[in-house]
Amino acid sequence: MTPEEFRRHGYQAIDWIADYLARPERYPVLAQVKPGELTDALPAAGPERGEPMDAIMADFERLIVPAVTHWNHPGFMAYFAISASEPGILGELLAAALNLNGMLWKSSPAVTELEQVTLRWLRQWTGLPEDWFGCIYDTASVGSMHAIAAARQAADPQCRTRGASQGLVVYTSEQAHSSIEKGAIAVGIGQDFVRKIPVDAEFRMRPDALAAAIERDLAAGLRPCCVCATVGTTSTTSVDPVPEIADLCQRHGIWLHVDAAYAGSLMVAPEFRWAFAGCDRADSLVTNPHKWFMTPVDCSVFYTRRPDVLRAAFSLIPEYLTTAADPRAVNLMDYGVPLGRRFRALKLWFVMRSFGREGIANLLRGQVQLAQDLAREVDADARFERTAPTPFSVVCLRYKGTDEENRRIQDHVNSTGEIFISGTVLNGRFTLRLAIGNRATKREHVARAWALIREGAERLSEGIPWQSGGLLRL
Ligand code: PLP
Repeated sequence: MTPEEFRRHGYQAIDWIADYLARPERYPVLAQVKPGELTDALPAAGPERGEPMDAIMADFERLIVPAVTHWNHPGFMAYFAISASEPGILGELLAAALNLNGMLWKSSPAVTELEQVTLRWLRQWTGLPEDWFGCIYDTASVGSMHAIAAARQAADPQCRTRGASQGLVVYTSEQAHSSIEKGAIAVGIGQDFVRKIPVDAEFRMRPDALAAAIERDLAAGLRPCCVCATVGTTSTTSVDPVPEIADLCQRHGIWLHVDAAYAGSLMVAPEFRWAFAGCDRADSLVTNPHKWFMTPVDCSVFYTRRPDVLRAAFSLIPEYLTTAADPRAVNLMDYGVPLGRRFRALKLWFVMRSFGREGIANLLRGQVQLAQDLAREVDADARFERTAPTPFSVVCLRYKGTDEENRRIQDHVNSTGEIFISGTVLNGRFTLRLAIGNRATKREHVARAWALIREGAERLSEGIPWQSGGLLRL
């Protein structure tokens, strides 16, 4: 591709993106394809000779886009809704162009230092301790796995040479994200040594049950090594009582990790700091700018007060990667499994500069407000009940009927292509779950979601035969 061709196709791609972001509603939010349909539409083998960019771009529109579930759609209210903002997209584009690998300071000073600078800014914006060390991983799952590995290292310093010893125990709540259990699997602790501590009526880890579990394990000769608390659990966004959990961890010398993958972004708004009380006493914390901080996937921030332990767990410097020691030349490869490190800090820097702390805080406040208003409407409708408190921007609700009826309501909403909601199970009952978090989601989109839910319920009570709009229930 010549520079002129690149310019032409580059402008074309930017035009496509600008149109897309201006009106993502032109597409159904949920992809309308069957499993395997895209695979079947694509050639079984790659081309022997290069193809023209115009043809590739045309196939992108013709084949790829229809198989996209649009996370940028204002009707996307499933899982945790996210936003790829324009500044973040531009940062990602430039990072791809530079194609840096920040394994060592020397291999790319900009990757290393901008990562440290943006994470220092983020510490200041969020009120986290100034002296914590931060680095960026791809996902919170990987961040939490590193936290568990560091906890294992602290409890069992021989583990890196002899392998993990049996009997180390990780504690988390019944409502914790599955990544915690996966992390324990990955570092060799094993599922049998993950204790899922019961929660209270508001889905928060019960410190009394945690204390009892720790005592039981100690009495059995096991070694409690890590507690993973969650601020903003996946199903309900509940907040574990971190101060009480921190007391227990301190008493027993246990590593405390906080998973704030979703809610962590809210620390930039002072009125939500209550939710993060005690987090400054954690040994590590993870939060995802790619969830609620306008940063395109992937970008997950990991902080620890004990980078020396993380280093002790992972630093391994072969001759071909040895560089002169300099206290200001941090080699990020020393702080985890990955050697290669892409320039994720660039998009985060673009986002932070373009929005400013206040800009992001205001956006999040607006989304929390939309959720609170919806919660009030749900409470006012006798046919429905909220199945969990709504501290932030996620509303859990159910029609006062059977699970099957609620699933049919979900199908009704999702079959329109206008709104995409997901569900979860709380106290053994299926629950609808609306997560407001996309930048384009406005009051009218939330109103439409609520109208469709009520319409679904009316169809049930009027006995209208069920018609799924042809979209898949996956
Ligand atoms: N932790 C929590 C509380 C989450 O809700 C999620 C995902 O939704 C994760 C961790 C996993 O995040 P990631 O996809 O970045 O691994």
